[in-house]
Amino acid sequence: MEKVIIIRYAEIHLKGKNRGYFERAFSNNLEKAMKGIRHEIHRTSGRYLIADFDEERTDEIMGRVSKVFGVHSYSVGLLVASDEDSIFGAAKLVAPQSGTFKVETHRGDKHYPLTSMEISARIGGRLLDDANGALKVDVHTPEHTVYIDIREGGRALVFGSFCDGVHGMPVSTAGKGLLLISGGIDSPVAGYMMAKRGMTVELLHFHSYPYTNEAAKEKVVTLAKILSDYTLVTRLTTVSVTHIQEEIHRNCAAELNVTLLRRFMFRIAERIASNVGAGCLVTGESLGQVASQTLEGLTSSNAVVSLPVLRPLIGFDKEDIVEIAKRIGTFETSTLPYEDCCTVFLPDFPAIRPKLSFIEEEEKKLDVEALVDEALSTREIIRF
Ligand code: ATP
Ligand code: MG
Repeated sequence: MEKVIIIRYAEIHLKGKNRGYFERAFSNNLEKAMKGIRHEIHRTSGRYLIADFDEERTDEIMGRVSKVFGVHSYSVGLLVASDEDSIFGAAKLVAPQSGTFKVETHRGDKHYPLTSMEISARIGGRLLDDANGALKVDVHTPEHTVYIDIREGGRALVFGSFCDGVHGMPVSTAGKGLLLISGGIDSPVAGYMMAKRGMTVELLHFHSYPYTNEAAKEKVVTLAKILSDYTLVTRLTTVSVTHIQEEIHRNCAAELNVTLLRRFMFRIAERIASNVGAGCLVTGESLGQVASQTLEGLTSSNAVVSLPVLRPLIGFDKEDIVEIAKRIGTFETSTLPYEDCCTVFLPDFPAIRPKLSFIEEEEKKLDVEALVDEALSTREIIRF
């Protein structure tokens, strides 16, 4: 009898001929998620089993599995030979000491000599006899269920519960995007959403050192680390926009500060994207949330890049974004009170519907290409 973690995968089974490709990506991702923990990963049809691990680390492994996209559900269980006595031995360990229960059997191996109903009845009966009256069967609303899954190769899995997985598609199966990550609530959630659809999410952060401090940068690194449990990407590019902000402040209409800065961010991001092989930019923008996130604001930043800009939160209310941020564990860090580069030089009245002609006119006061090149020369890569 061996303790295992049973992993059932989600949407991947829909992918027809590409199934092998998705499954390979999924098992690679599982391997990456298990980094630093001794284990074996086995495949049985429609399931992966994590075996041969240090049992004291079961909770840690479960925590990691809970963040792998593509996992539909997972359970801690026992792997045994599929003869009745072995199954009963495992069922006794999984069954409760008292209360109501039922046994539910799934027969993956259709050659097994007993039907699912017969297996459930036999094992349930033996559990009842063994409990000396402490257990009662309730097939409709039991307090506990003992699940038996008869697998091919003369083996069976016995377990007591299902944990809901994070669903989605395996990361690396849907191209690569470059997430513009601030220290705020939204952008980490945006990265999570794209990774959930299988995208590899590289990270780019703009800072305004010395107007923003080391702690602000640390905050973003912490967010990037939390995100990496899901995205499996463990590096972050940073670029300074300090000089750009100073130049905009000195030369251009104050109400366009944010709009102009965002156009610089996008231009720089497009250059970094081409370096890291990303085919799109990803942002945490949500329509109407702030002055720069009006249709005109979004259009003015789109106008300076040719890559598509994906904005997975565009139709989300802040409350919904906060709920996801809390669930994935970024909220607490995102709400730490450090200055973001956008808040430095923030005008009192940012333009809500900036006209492209006015923006372009103001931008002519700057040496755009030189400023972009200079910013790119401040590029740093942080690995964690
Ligand atoms: P967030 O909560 O993600 O900071 P926000 O609501 O504060 O978003 P903005 O500050 O207008 O909105 O930023 C919109 C988007 O622009 C962010 O979601 C992020 O993708 C990108 N962005 C903003 N500031 C930065 C930065 N300093 N570095 C990288 N990307 C940024
Ligand atoms: Mg922000």
